[in-house]
Amino acid sequence: MEIIEKIDELREIVKKWRLEGKTVGLVPTMGYLHEGHKSLIVRAVAENDKVVVSDFVNPMQFGPTEDLATYPRDLDHDAKLVEDAGADLIFHPEPSEMYLDDFSSYVDMNTLTKGLCGKTRPIHFRGVCTVLAKLFNIVTPDKAYFGQKDAQQLAVVKHMVSDLNFGLEIVGCPIIREEDGLAKSSRNTYLSPEERKAGLVLSRSLKHGKEAIEAGEKDATKVIGLITDEINKEPLAKIDYVEIVTWPDLKEVSTIEGSVLCAMAVYIGKTRLIDNFIID
Ligand code: AMP
Repeated sequence: MEIIEKIDELREIVKKWRLEGKTVGLVPTMGYLHEGHKSLIVRAVAENDKVVVSDFVNPMQFGPTEDLATYPRDLDHDAKLVEDAGADLIFHPEPSEMYLDDFSSYVDMNTLTKGLCGKTRPIHFRGVCTVLAKLFNIVTPDKAYFGQKDAQQLAVVKHMVSDLNFGLEIVGCPIIREEDGLAKSSRNTYLSPEERKAGLVLSRSLKHGKEAIEAGEKDATKVIGLITDEINKEPLAKIDYVEIVTWPDLKEVSTIEGSVLCAMAVYIGKTRLIDNFIID
């Protein structure tokens, strides 16, 4: 398992793989890897001859008041996890390698990025789309793997790949959780023991919502009400949003039918956590 920091060097390696007729999978991450990331890497290893894991805290997707400076980083730990999962290479560029001083081209999207997380993170998806476009151009993967944990991102990336004819397959993978239900996230490390317990309100309230829908409730406002009532019982929790939208078009719904995404972002203390479920 190699760690590569330079774009040209990575291109040369991929070129060699291509000459050998190998297929290539890409797992884009911001590092501080956990079992959620590992599930994506293991799937990529099973479905491709060669697998690149990018490990890059992308400054462009952080707003000015967000946690870019404090975002956790541990390359040694990541290297071990990536090796255990069977991938071939970590791409770990410096920000200056990805964004030259005169960088001025962006990939933006008018639909899908305005609601849900886009409301409080208005520049986030422009940063995500731009860095992914760069990674897709650098690695030229056959398939790229994304977690449903970031459901809006998954929908946005699929749409971008279709709009811009990137010619790769986007594979969505299920949410990996702690035993008690908390969705695994690099940001869970910010939580104090008390906040860690409070964070369970996300998965617990979503479970109530899902059970109500499974029992036949079709009124989105009622389901959202059930979920928000549960969250509001937790004193450390502050709701950013709880929404039910069509999947994968992310349009608001009043009556639940077809495929829907029920997604939330909730502050636990200062830490913003997200979670969701998709139901047919
Ligand atoms: P991040 O490093 O947070 O940008 O995440 C990199 C990729 O891992 C994204 O596609 C995430 O959706 C995915 N991911 C993060 N946490 C989980 C999880 N708990 N289960 C499944 N996928 C995840």
